[in-house]
Amino acid sequence: HLTSEQVMDSKEQSLEHTLRPQRLAHYLGQEKIKKELSIYIEAAKNREEALDHVLLYGPPGLGKTTMAIVIANEMGAEIRTTSGPAIEKPGDLVALLNDLEPGGILFIDEIHRMPRIAEEMLYSAMEDFYVDIIIGQGETAHPVHFPLPPFTLIGATTRAGSLSAPLRDRFGILAHMEYYTKEELEKIVLRSASVLQTDIVEDGALEIARRSRGTPRIANRLLKRVRDYAQVRGEGIVDKENAASALDLLSVDHMGLDSVDHKLLKTMITLYNGGPVGLNTLSANIGEEMMTIEDMVEPFLLKEGFIQRTSRGRMATQKAYDHFDLMHLMKK
Ligand code: ADP
Repeated sequence: HLTSEQVMDSKEQSLEHTLRPQRLAHYLGQEKIKKELSIYIEAAKNREEALDHVLLYGPPGLGKTTMAIVIANEMGAEIRTTSGPAIEKPGDLVALLNDLEPGGILFIDEIHRMPRIAEEMLYSAMEDFYVDIIIGQGETAHPVHFPLPPFTLIGATTRAGSLSAPLRDRFGILAHMEYYTKEELEKIVLRSASVLQTDIVEDGALEIARRSRGTPRIANRLLKRVRDYAQVRGEGIVDKENAASALDLLSVDHMGLDSVDHKLLKTMITLYNGGPVGLNTLSANIGEEMMTIEDMVEPFLLKEGFIQRTSRGRMATQKAYDHFDLMHLMKK
């Protein structure tokens, strides 16, 4: 029996599922990664070998999971999905690996959050397709050499820096996911609208794209909200005007900054004179976890030049003061 919230959840999830491109040709953006991968995939297929292990890293919502599924489809390989925190003991990992058919793919999301002993077990699994496990307890305990089918590990992480060097070095293919351009996001919005059978005009798609923080997941989410707005307040067609009104209502400004970004930047400017201010201080002030700020809020603000990171902490830039019309508060 599901509660209404769980029904909503699974509805949103299945929507996210239907919006995922399945093949490399339909995966928009990330041109450099796609070009490289298509060569490695073709070569591995010609040799009838498993693809080398792939590490995808970058902020959430940029399409890492989607890319793992696309790789599996292109390889014609089965894919099993898990996440770092879901692997509690080494046995969980052995069971997953042993279950794969030869050439299969294991996708581990948030791989930086995997327990250390499971991670260490991955070293030999990735390099030579075996694990050594201890069977029995006390005096009868003995190591058993356990061969595995050849497989491809695809790891995803928001922070390549928090992966241990031995693990990182065992990935043959490292792919750094970039924020998407407005033009790429516009295409993604148009594609999603057609999947959702929503009428949309180009400048409506562009307005959503401009405000999506370079992130497809956000673009799709905003599209759904704008679609609701257009249906109730307009003729059901997503255009620039109702996109702008709906997004204003959601407190997403013309640069894509939302209420959390505003809180963070205004705190830096008005309470800390523009900084430098430490992450923990900011976290306490705006009521967001440090990890959320580091992984989800800051990267976009850094990329767009609203903040700078210095050895003494974060600083608001002139662009941030300008954005809020607070130039008069800027230190000389
Ligand atoms: P991540 O694993 O990096 O957090 P996901 O792969 O779950 O991100 O992507 C989030 C959503 O964004 C997906 O449901 C998909 O619909 C959409 N998406 C991501 N990348 C693309 C892309 N390149 N083209 C079209 N849609 C995309």
